[in-house]
Amino acid sequence: MSFLQPLARTSSRWSHIRTLASSASSRPARDCSRITPPYPKLVSNLEKVKRVLDNRPLTLAEKILYSHLTEPEGVKPIRGQTYLKLSPDASAQMAILQFMLAGMPTTAVPTSIHCDHLIVGHKGAAQDLVKSVENNKEIFNFLESAAEKYGMSFWKPGSGIIHQIVLENYAAPGLLMLGTDSHTPNAGGLGAIAIGVGGADAVDAMANIPWELKAPEVIGVKLTGKLNGWTSPKDVILHLVGKLTVRGGTGHIIEYFGPGIETLSCTGMGTICNMGAEVGATTSLFPFVNSMASYLHATGRGPVAEAARHNANFLRADEGAVYDKVIEINLSELEPYINGPFTPDLATPLSKFADVVRKNGWKDEVKVGLIGSCTNSSYEDMDRVTSLAKQAVEKGIKSKAGFFITPGSEQIRATIERDGQTGVLEKVGGVVLANACGPCIGQWTRDDLNDKEENAILTSFNRNFKNRNDGNSTTMNFLTSPELVTAMSLSGKLTFNPLTDPLVDASGNEFMLQPPYGDNLPKDGFIPGNLSYMPADVSKPNPSVEINVDPKSTRLQVLEPFGPGPEGEFTDLQVLLKVKGKCTTDHISAAGPWLKYKGHLENISNNTLNGALNADNDKVNVVKNVFTGEEGAIHEVGRDYQKLGKPWIVVTDHNYGEGSAREHAALQMRYLGCPMILARSFARIHQTNLKKQGVLPLTFADPADWEKMHGGDVIESTVGVADLVAGRPGKNDTPEGGEISLVVRRPNGEKYEIRALHTMSKDQVQWFKKGSALNAARG
Ligand code: SF4
Repeated sequence: MSFLQPLARTSSRWSHIRTLASSASSRPARDCSRITPPYPKLVSNLEKVKRVLDNRPLTLAEKILYSHLTEPEGVKPIRGQTYLKLSPDASAQMAILQFMLAGMPTTAVPTSIHCDHLIVGHKGAAQDLVKSVENNKEIFNFLESAAEKYGMSFWKPGSGIIHQIVLENYAAPGLLMLGTDSHTPNAGGLGAIAIGVGGADAVDAMANIPWELKAPEVIGVKLTGKLNGWTSPKDVILHLVGKLTVRGGTGHIIEYFGPGIETLSCTGMGTICNMGAEVGATTSLFPFVNSMASYLHATGRGPVAEAARHNANFLRADEGAVYDKVIEINLSELEPYINGPFTPDLATPLSKFADVVRKNGWKDEVKVGLIGSCTNSSYEDMDRVTSLAKQAVEKGIKSKAGFFITPGSEQIRATIERDGQTGVLEKVGGVVLANACGPCIGQWTRDDLNDKEENAILTSFNRNFKNRNDGNSTTMNFLTSPELVTAMSLSGKLTFNPLTDPLVDASGNEFMLQPPYGDNLPKDGFIPGNLSYMPADVSKPNPSVEINVDPKSTRLQVLEPFGPGPEGEFTDLQVLLKVKGKCTTDHISAAGPWLKYKGHLENISNNTLNGALNADNDKVNVVKNVFTGEEGAIHEVGRDYQKLGKPWIVVTDHNYGEGSAREHAALQMRYLGCPMILARSFARIHQTNLKKQGVLPLTFADPADWEKMHGGDVIESTVGVADLVAGRPGKNDTPEGGEISLVVRRPNGEKYEIRALHTMSKDQVQWFKKGSALNAARG
């Protein structure tokens, strides 16, 4: 069986939603047959691929990927070159709206929907959840009815964060899984290859269309030693992100190996894999180890653990497997890290951080500490931070900074309430928010800040782009472990180092915090908490369910298919603007308050590129309309060009579209009339998302040519697009793609040529030609 986990996010019969008061009861016995990977079939497929590869030793990443090839003998996979057609074992408003276009009665693979992005953190779980449910009723109802109609599992608002729920319920060693979120790789902590994709990719899987991926190269990270003292799994990945930078993992899977892996908890490995997204890696994973089996047993999936044990050889790299690059980390010597602000790869070891604070002249204050997110919300995380909070309670002190805790799931929330961690965290002033993304995705109402006041927050999250958490561009957001968030929040100082600096107790005496400690798993087992948040164990499609979308709705809009792509060369493409510097999917399609329009393409398009810095005028979201001479917001000028029948493009800098897998960033561009984007380089998921929506992503053959181009230029014609769509060999084709030339005219009439490169596979050309992947799938 293939198990694909298209993981949507957000609806419902509100009579089923109860308050967050603990109503713990035993979780019904689980049928694991649908969540156990089909190991015999995978092993047999792999044998076939190995014959094609002359039995060379394979990395674990290769073993899992190649065993999911739709035709195991049909292709000789070469890392970095071959496009693989895969059958994922199988996430979203937009994904479902797109799936509706496919006209199928049910999903081809088990599919779950999660409602974690629309719950605003403010006063605490109970109040926030009720308010968010009320405000988002329309969306939640839509999603729940779609789940009923198509037979998807619907996890109600309050059930938790998608990746934590997946780790607790669906992930398994050796599984190939897709999710509509860039932190899907969290499941690599349980030995799965879990890849973040756009909704359109998830729709492929839901519609049983083979999913295509260029065989990734593999970075091996050898772990030796053992974490100790203040260092935690988060520091492994914070350190690695600093080493690799936000682009260093592009086109690669990160595979961990070495004796150090045996010392890590399953959820700790999940933390490490989760943030592999920050280096642009396709995914990250660990081989099957004992802590995974323990976690599977603790979460009611003993049969999956036993099946994995029987196939342990399949679930680790072959002896002698060769990695494309190896990085070694000695866990015993690793220091705690603090990364940021504004980019996750600005990594500073704790011992140097106070100097950095002083050198930059930052105010020595932690305004708020936030614990949680899909990265760090496990039982172990909560137990370890509680060990610190307990010391503070015993000394009669509270957190000097605001302190918020987001449990990753209802199961975690209920279990830490039963085991006393919640009580201790509240005693130091902690506010427990709803089990959801909350401040991590910008769903945060702050009462502690005057508008635009410069301030520092510490989070155990994974992303720290400007504006990300509170929409305030002057909030400096630093990423660190939950343990350091807690210790530094207790002190209230940004220069505080718990290894060397004392805290002051209620009587004015200094004391040192002892290093954190905690259980990986609850001694008395997990309790599920409020069972009404959970889906039925096996969801069956019910075709009689009507999915109602009010045509007057401002939040949901039924999609219309895009028109076909060009039949020949492009002519007269207006360069709308040249973007300078970081342009993440948050810059292209902002989150926070815009999330409420995620299901309404017309309305959410009003945020298009509103965070982009125009290289020609150094202004954010301001561009000149060449036809009127007036300046306007980027989406407004784009819409004006579209009304005039002038297709437009944007020229962008490096790693365009990094960050969240948000497919809206691609959909909106296409919707507003952009058929092509020319970048110095692209982030992987976004590049695929663009291709899926019929947009041609090109990179400069010579990245220095970015300097030559400007907003207002016109691409008079392309050379090579006609060959591409006709399937003819193009100029300078390579196994990875080919060349497209652009003849560009400046406003003064001067012309110049730009050489650009594409990476379109045959199938992707069909998407472009037909106008979108979904159009191509419909035939
Ligand atoms: Fe939610 Fe943040 Fe995780 Fe994304 S990164 S899934 S917003 S908790």
